[in-house]
This record gives sequence, C-alpha cells and structure tokens, in this order.
Amino acid sequence: MKTIFYNGSVITPETVFHGGVEVEGSKIIRVFKGDDFEKTGTLVDCKGNFISPGFVDLHVHGAYEAPFFSGNLEDLHRGTKFHAMHGTTSILPTTASASHDEVLAALKCIKEAMGMPNEGARILGAHIEGNYMNPVCAGAQNPEYLYKADPSEYMELIDTGIVRRVSASPEVEGVLDMARRLAPQGILMSIAHSNGDYSMFMRAIEAGFTHITHIYNAQSMLSNCYFYPQIGVCEAALLHDEITVEAICDGRHVPAELLRLIHKVKGPDRMHATTDAILSGAPDGSFRCFDMDLLVEDEVCMLASRVAFAGSVATTDRLVRTLYKDAHIPIVDAVKMITLTPARMINEQNHIGRLAEGYDADINVFDDNINILATMILGKMFFNKLS
Ligand SMILES: [Zn+2]
Repeated sequence: MKTIFYNGSVITPETVFHGGVEVEGSKIIRVFKGDDFEKTGTLVDCKGNFISPGFVDLHVHGAYEAPFFSGNLEDLHRGTKFHAMHGTTSILPTTASASHDEVLAALKCIKEAMGMPNEGARILGAHIEGNYMNPVCAGAQNPEYLYKADPSEYMELIDTGIVRRVSASPEVEGVLDMARRLAPQGILMSIAHSNGDYSMFMRAIEAGFTHITHIYNAQSMLSNCYFYPQIGVCEAALLHDEITVEAICDGRHVPAELLRLIHKVKGPDRMHATTDAILSGAPDGSFRCFDMDLLVEDEVCMLASRVAFAGSVATTDRLVRTLYKDAHIPIVDAVKMITLTPARMINEQNHIGRLAEGYDADINVFDDNINILATMILGKMFFNKLS
C-alpha cells in the first residue's frame, strides 16, 4: 500500500519545488512535481509545508533522562524516540570519556538495540568521543578518563563491529597510529578536543583524519603567540578543502554569524549541522551527567562552574531553524547539512539523505518555522500532526 505526501514544497539537494513524494514499503518510489500523481493509498496533504529527507545526526549523546552511554537499553529507546519527535531519523549514539568497561558496555548495548526493530530514530552505528583526547581542551569530558590510545584497549571497542566514527586529539600519544589503523577500515576519524597547531593538524591529515568535531568548541583556534598570530585546528579545517567539519548549530555554541562564515567557506557539502545533544528536553536547572555537575540555562548546557559548554539541549529541528532563520542560510543548504552531507560522511549516501526514487523512506514535513508536522521512518509514520 502506497503513502503519498502531496501539496508540499519538496526539498532536494539542489532546489525546492511544489510537489510530493510516493512511498511503498520502506522505500521512496517516486518524487513528482505539481499534482502529477494518482489518488490511491494513504494520502497526506502537506498543505504547502516543506517536505525534506529525515535528519541525520552523527554526534548525539542522548536526551534528558535518556543517556546513550549508560549501557541501558531503555535509555537508548527513550532517547531515539525523543529525537525522532524532532525530526531525527538516523543517529550515531555517541559515548563520552568514561572507564573502558563503561564505554564497552555502552557499545554492546547500542549493538543490541541495532538488532531490534527501531522505536525512534534508526541507529546506524556508534561514535566514540573520548578517551583519547587532550585534557587541556577537555570541555565537559571527564579529565579522569583522558589518556593515551592503546591498541589493546581501543581494538576491543572497534571489534564490536559497530563503530563508524572516532573523535580524538591527534597530539595524544598513540592517536596518529590509531588513525592509520582505523581510517582504512572506513571509520570516520575526527579531530576533537585538540590543542594542536598547524603542523599537528597536517600530521593528523596524513595519518587519516578527515573531519573536525564541533568546530570552534573545545578546539584550538586563532590566537596570538606573544604578538604573532597563529591559526588553530579550526582555521586549518576551513583552509583545507578536503576536510569536512561539524558545527553545533544551536546558535549558542557557535553564534549565527560564525555559522554563516563556516558555511561560506566550507559550503553545504562539507559542513554537518549536529546537536552534540546530552540533555535535550531538560528544564533549566542542575544535573549530574557524564559523572560531572552540569547546568542547563539560556537554552544551553554547561559545566556547573560555567567555564565550558557541556554538550547541548538542542534537537535537529532547532539546528535547521537557527541556520535558516538566524544565520540566513538558504533552506536547501540548511537541510543538506543535516541530511545528505552527514550521510555521505559515513558512506550511507546511496540510500539515506535524499528524496529520490530508491532511497529509504525517511521523511519530514515541517512549516516555515521548522516545527515538525510529520515524520516517517523507513516507511512507517512515526507521527503525523497534519491530519
Ligand atoms: Zn566534545
């Protein structure tokens, strides 16, 4: 039985046009312009709202009372459902710095969930952030668990078979060797929490790093050495076309004008809008998370000491809203940065991230203020406020 989304503004990687999308089973079978469709099956009148691919988030630690790194299946299901309510249809649950046993337990739990029918956003694999990062740029990572990369430890994590991305600091002992080993296996190597200079950045690229974790947060950036300006990891990533970046586009971690600058330099094919969510859905107040005391206020999450951000309370709909409304980035680019571009970063671009025949039926409908009105995941309607 078909489901037909019609009377919408269809967003493709190139343009927006009036039309709709036909779905059968778990796949998109046709995208049409105007009203060129037969009225059979379940009809969803999109009432002129946007129709886009489902959102893809490659860096997300969970949601309020639903951490992805707890090793608890219930937490994982609650978190994937929460994010799906905001338009996320595919995710990489992301660990944080913790004891090796805790990280391993979290990965095993994520693997178990991947073997079950999805209850919310689809889990495409896991993202390891920590423990191989520079304590100088710890941000909200627990410094107790930041240390050198030892293959006898990290290969036990990799051998779970679900790791798609590793965020680490190239200047930490053993990390360049880790990149040489993991990048050829198709694992996305991402410079994170790095205090490296330009020469370290170049060594990282040579070792196999191709991506930057939360640019302009907990990474080296333009500074003065005495009075001689020097660039950091962030500007080096802007300079090198072969490097892709992610930015936490909540309007707090990176201000709208800096988002515009990053977009201007990297373009929508090399910039991923991510949440780095940890306490999405939490009210303002104090929380214990990552084994640390955190604070939620001003629509952002920070250490209780207020010296660093600590992940976000964002959801993917908010990211698109910030890019489109505050940073004045065209809707086609804003959507691409959270659909096709992240899908390409983990080699899923042939079936995820685009409204086109043969692609997975992961579909969002949302209004001009990016309020999600309907979400379909793999051909199943997750929710629908349109009818
Ligand atoms: Zn981080």
